[in-house]
Amino acid sequence: MAIKKKQIYEVKITDMAFGGKGVTKVDGFTIFVDQTVPMDHALIRIIKKKKNYAEAKIVELLSPSPYRIEAACEYSGFCGGCKWQFIEYEKQLEYKRQHVIDSLEHIGMINDVPVHLTIPSKKNTEYRNKMEFSCSDRRWLLPDELGNDDIDTGFALGLHVPGTFYKVLDINACLLQSKLGNRILNDTRAFMKQSSAPVYGLRSHEGFWRFLMLRYSNYFDQWMVNMITSAEDQKIVQPLADLLTAKYPEVISVVNNITSSKAGIAVGEYEICLAGEAKITDRIGSFDFEISANSFFQTNTLGAEQLYEIVKNYAGLTGSETVADLYSGTGTIAIYLSGSAKEITGIECVESSVKDAEKNCAKNHISNCRFIRGDIAESISLITEKPDVLVIDPPRVGMHKSVVKQIIDMGTDRIVYVSCNPSTLARDISLMKDHYNVLEIQPVDMFPHTYHIEAVARLERK
Ligand code: SAH
Repeated sequence: MAIKKKQIYEVKITDMAFGGKGVTKVDGFTIFVDQTVPMDHALIRIIKKKKNYAEAKIVELLSPSPYRIEAACEYSGFCGGCKWQFIEYEKQLEYKRQHVIDSLEHIGMINDVPVHLTIPSKKNTEYRNKMEFSCSDRRWLLPDELGNDDIDTGFALGLHVPGTFYKVLDINACLLQSKLGNRILNDTRAFMKQSSAPVYGLRSHEGFWRFLMLRYSNYFDQWMVNMITSAEDQKIVQPLADLLTAKYPEVISVVNNITSSKAGIAVGEYEICLAGEAKITDRIGSFDFEISANSFFQTNTLGAEQLYEIVKNYAGLTGSETVADLYSGTGTIAIYLSGSAKEITGIECVESSVKDAEKNCAKNHISNCRFIRGDIAESISLITEKPDVLVIDPPRVGMHKSVVKQIIDMGTDRIVYVSCNPSTLARDISLMKDHYNVLEIQPVDMFPHTYHIEAVARLERK
């Protein structure tokens, strides 16, 4: 039977694919079905047909999988913020570990490495310390909102429908952030709606209000509010800063990032501080970190501590080692390891992150870390003496081939590779497998209710 677009089939979901979709087969042909989980029995409709696979949506759930639970959030199934709320947490952890194993096998051709059980997140709601909400002049409606004439469809402040740049849901409460964040979100929405400045149109590229970014300090229970606007106009934004700081003592920093770029990225070309200082402080382990609006900081603070403990353990430090920390961000890993090593050199390309890393060292009275600003591909050559341990924590795209080659040539005995993307982890370590043994991999869940997984690999030179 040839699979056809728009056709409806009755299926049982048998597997979970990377990307968080359920998998079934009809006459041996693979179909990915969004918002399903193994053991679902469902009617599905094909929405896309390619040469080797098809994609489908659920039409009717005939009998639900025992792994399904009632999602706590009203936007579940529609919002791209998290797509796995309907799957019980224990199962999420299993699927994530399986993604790591599958990536190693299929992409890296590596099948003999122990992959430990996923370490769960200590919090599985309210775990994010940073949220970005988009503004839009067209609100995307939930099915039960369609046809409701009381709804103002000309304004939205919220999160995107998965994979879309212009479909923004108007979100009143997000379970991934602490409760006060939702109050700030709703007060900001009310303010923006009554303001004289128009909301941004994601198709017209006109309008003033673009994004609201909230940062939360888990340890100190404090907030930074960052409004991203398309132009500078302090008369308009200052009253919002005043309102929020007067109402919530926890809001200790309000900044305004200004961007003329059409790209959907909540980073400004420059920043104005409207209240307090342009930073907040959070704590990982026994270290304090100052975080500015545009710096990288792990989004799950308690999860970061669990992750860095694994890194420390895999690095096997005794106090006498030299360490290189590649992709060092705001220096969090270097600082976390500073008490266990002789000397640590970080390399990072974003200037504000390097400055934050240096400030964070000073703040924590650390004198054995230094940071180089530059692209790893070029700056790695500045590390002239072979370090005892290499810690690598690249972005989702993984390492550039030329970086992998330089790392192999450097010949460090021990490598700890921290990855937020099992596919590029598998690709990169397979490029190194003639020179390094992969001894073990520890998945750490930093992002409950999403299919994303962080993993730490321990490598040793052959
Ligand atoms: N280790 C840090 C940050 C990891 S995120 C932590 O745990 O918080 C990855 C970092 O790599 C980001 O800070 C990003 O700015 C940086 N980065 C990405 N590509 C880079 C490159 N080619 N050269 C140097 N740094 C890079």
